[in-house]
Amino acid sequence: MLVNRPNIRRLAETTVNRIAAGEVIERPAAAIKELVENSVDAGATRVDVTIAAGGTQLMRVTDNGCGMHKDDLTLSIERHATSKLADDDDLLNISHLGFRGEALPSIGAVSRLQITSRPNGGDAAWTIHVEGGRRTDPALAAHPTGTQVEVRDLFFATPARLKFMKSERAEQMAITDMLKRMAMAHPTVSFSLSAAPTLSEAPKSILQVEAAPLDDPLLTRLGQIVGRDFAENALAIDVTRDDIRLHGYVGLPTLNKRTAQSQYMFVNTRPVLDKLFRGAVRGGYQDVLAHDRHAVLALYLEIPSSFVDVNVHPAKSEVRFRDPGLVRGMIVSSLKQALADAGHRTSSTVSIAALGKARSDTSLQQNSLHFAPQQPHYTTYMPRANTSVVARGLSEAAESFQAPISETEYAGYSGRVEAVSDPYTEEQADPNRILPLGVARAQLHQTYIVAQSSDGIVLVDQHAAHERLTLERLKSQMREQGVSRQLLLLPEVVEMDPDAAQRLLDRAEDLATMGLAIESFGTGAVMVRETPALLGTTNIPGLLADLAEDMAAWDSTTALEDKIDHVVATMACHGSIRAGRPLTSEEMNALLRQMEATPLSGQCAHGRPTYIELKLSDIESLFGRKE
Ligand code: ADP
Ligand code: MG
Repeated sequence: MLVNRPNIRRLAETTVNRIAAGEVIERPAAAIKELVENSVDAGATRVDVTIAAGGTQLMRVTDNGCGMHKDDLTLSIERHATSKLADDDDLLNISHLGFRGEALPSIGAVSRLQITSRPNGGDAAWTIHVEGGRRTDPALAAHPTGTQVEVRDLFFATPARLKFMKSERAEQMAITDMLKRMAMAHPTVSFSLSAAPTLSEAPKSILQVEAAPLDDPLLTRLGQIVGRDFAENALAIDVTRDDIRLHGYVGLPTLNKRTAQSQYMFVNTRPVLDKLFRGAVRGGYQDVLAHDRHAVLALYLEIPSSFVDVNVHPAKSEVRFRDPGLVRGMIVSSLKQALADAGHRTSSTVSIAALGKARSDTSLQQNSLHFAPQQPHYTTYMPRANTSVVARGLSEAAESFQAPISETEYAGYSGRVEAVSDPYTEEQADPNRILPLGVARAQLHQTYIVAQSSDGIVLVDQHAAHERLTLERLKSQMREQGVSRQLLLLPEVVEMDPDAAQRLLDRAEDLATMGLAIESFGTGAVMVRETPALLGTTNIPGLLADLAEDMAAWDSTTALEDKIDHVVATMACHGSIRAGRPLTSEEMNALLRQMEATPLSGQCAHGRPTYIELKLSDIESLFGRKE
């Protein structure tokens, strides 16, 4: 059958812009991003955003940037008109956030757009209106220096797109998130966001961050956006390699989260979400965080535009690097360095959380404070003066604490209390010697070491702490002379799943360099001749099973370094003083001193703290002696 061939014709500009809008402006947050980027490009030091109905009814961005002349106002809404590329259109030399000249015409094609602007030093402001792609001529208006862009009824001209919008709440959240990232990317600019459920209601303030002219505007800004606990528990990073600079703040491992949502990355001040970064951060925190926990950090990469392809889709937050390995390596190594330099520090949030828990526990138990020897249970008490229940609880508590507790009662506890002569005075013989983790006073439940520091109490989880020390010693042995091994008197044969056995045997040579000598003992069995000396007597079948499980999780993208770290971490866990082993006071103090001297000793390999410090002032407020 013959078909009448239709003629080819050029699309109308409005149609072209609508198609482009579908890609560039896929939702209100994308429009906000473009408008705020324009404000930043215009040198604004303050950007105020107002939205109604999640941005669908209204988005208004006001800035105090350089503004536009009357003629530029008309040009700004023409497709591919930009003031941001040098005359030679060099795409490798991009110093602004925009450069495509697509945003304003795209927004204008699918909404009712009004731009009002007064140029820096100009004596009048002009306004222009675009509706569904058709514009008015500029008209005189009243406006201070800077620009205000108002977008109403986004997508009214493309009803199909309107149908695909998420709820207004979701759009408002996306806008808030976008603006937070912009605020982190530009710490010297003040930002605000106000939102109203509909146009007829008064907007409420959602976000307001002022630029602080302090020594470190970035840290101030991160405190405002990510949270004060982050600002207080973050390590500064600033390294430059070749022409690439990586800086920012990374959270201590003990300040970890369930999702990676608090990992912020910026490339040349653009917020990005990128697999490469996520992977590199994993690598950096590899032996201080469990796999299901995520660090909190804000990293800024400044890289010459010739090293990165920014010409990827404007709405996408991925980046393409010319040399991804270089960038990855730089991130991993600087994270590791910063964490190692932090020494035994753990985040203050740990003890704050412990205190908070102690308080909330007591509120449940305030009617039943007791001290029953057969059921060891230490309750803490936080009096609240205004309730009589508490007052009664307090006197009961006082009574039970007055009852003398004999040595024999103590001995009945599952955890033996080890009295320590008075090593504090011995250790403090040199008054200039500062012992950050204090002097061991007792071991409780054969699991925790209680130490007295100059201004508080330190509670150490002996297993977690020893595991970290073993790990660091194994690593330093590997770097130096190789892991020293111990020959087993009787080689141990371990039966296991044939696949698991094979995985181990495939790496027998590598394992040998890490102090573990294994060989095949027929299908589904492995014979162990030597183990790392540091591990002492260890549960060998358990160790092999865990190693085989680690290896099953590796794939072609796992870096060799990560594999080694994995194996060593698993070994360290198996070689540690288990909870439940009594320690002498010498052993306990030795452990504390080693922790002070060992990098990363503030957390175990899973990101849990190895110790908690309660300052005397915290304890006093816990007892209501002080607020
Ligand atoms: P691009 O940002 O890629 O250049 P846009 O469509 O976003 O493209 O903007 C077009 C032009 O309008 C910009 O190049 C700039 O000259 C001007 N412009 C847009 N917004 C502002 C603003 N807030 N202040 C000053 N000039 C602006
Ligand atoms: Mg732009």
